[in-house]
Amino acid sequence: MGKIIDGKALSQAVKDEVKEQVPLLEEKYGRKPCLVVIIVGENPASQVYVRNKVKAAAYTGMESRLIELPADISEEALLGQIAALNEDPLVDGILVQLPLPKHIDEEKVIDAISREKDVDGFHPGNVAGLWLGKDCIVPCTPAGVMRMLDSIGCELKGKNAVVVGRSNIVGKPMAKLLLDRHATVTIAHSRTADLGAVCRTADVLVLAVGKAGLVTGDMVKPGAVLIDVGMNRNAEGKLCGDADFASCEPVAGWITPVPGGVGPMTIAMLMQNTIHCFLSREAR
Ligand code: NDP
Repeated sequence: MGKIIDGKALSQAVKDEVKEQVPLLEEKYGRKPCLVVIIVGENPASQVYVRNKVKAAAYTGMESRLIELPADISEEALLGQIAALNEDPLVDGILVQLPLPKHIDEEKVIDAISREKDVDGFHPGNVAGLWLGKDCIVPCTPAGVMRMLDSIGCELKGKNAVVVGRSNIVGKPMAKLLLDRHATVTIAHSRTADLGAVCRTADVLVLAVGKAGLVTGDMVKPGAVLIDVGMNRNAEGKLCGDADFASCEPVAGWITPVPGGVGPMTIAMLMQNTIHCFLSREAR
């Protein structure tokens, strides 16, 4: 029977660490860290994510601002807002919730956020920093997964890790973080010939696909650590991951639930990244 890695409890612990730090930082530097979250349009899922991010920031006691912009805002106007926030000395972190409306070039927007305020870790400068092993902001979701692995004392050195999914925001940075801990890493994707065979080699299996029930128990090595990043709605509209929990849980040694797994960790690591940005700016 797989033991559950409780993302909710662990994220609470991370947020509490940040909450303890905020008054100390205010005392030392004369101001609190400040996170700005921008949402464009009314995508219901994005609205929930954004609300949870602002709520978490309020919990920790840091400053936060929510900027809600209409779906038809021009790319130029959005870039103008970002430029102003880049210049604002009281702002430490800027997050633009993705996806953006089709008429706005996401890449341009990500590039426009100054590297030092890029709390999501998506800016090319931070991506390069991650792959070159230099100081950088690590994307929140993979950072949260590493914290989960550490919480169970998972030794990665020499282990086989398989990451299913190769997106810039989850799969690729996830693989690099596992590589940094000396795991032997395989990245699987939609063209992988025999996904089951690849997954069965994994001591640590990270799923970041977006397909409900893609991985079933017969694809999991007995005793493996299974981290499910996927967030999907099943036929009944219930939130679920990429793993078929019912068949994977008895096989895995450890498993993350959906909901209550990686999702809350992503938000907690955003708080930590805001502190990182604050400290880097104050250290200049
Ligand atoms: P993307 O759609 O950007 O990437 C999905 C990846 O899965 C691609 O690399 C794709 O391969 C691969 N893939 C698709 N179908 C298969 C298949 N049948 N077999 C193997 N691989 C496949 O998604 P994201 O990385 O942005 O997100 C992945 C999931 O994680 C989503 O459910 C998303 O909602 C969730 N998510 C959860 C977060 C959290 O906080 N819990 C945060 C971010 C994302 P290819 O490259 O070949 O197309």
